[in-house]
Amino acid sequence: MTSFRPHPFSWRPGSTSRHATTGVPADGQQFQALCGSAEIADTCAEAWFLPTCAACNVVTHELAGVPMPPAPPVAP
Ligand SMILES: [Zn+2]
Repeated sequence: MTSFRPHPFSWRPGSTSRHATTGVPADGQQFQALCGSAEIADTCAEAWFLPTCAACNVVTHELAGVPMPPAPPVAP
């Protein structure tokens, strides 16, 4: 059975960030992130709270055809 996959990438937590990749790596499997980083997938619940990789975020927005949201306003 295949799972629904609306975009040609998946998000996976790595060592210090949540990265995107073209594959669907299982827990403990090495993957090449869209930012170029080589990572080991860590799919434990806590790892999903890691910050989103900024470079992967830009690439996924391009692949999905969705513009990046405007930067938040800077506090005075
Ligand atoms: Zn990344």
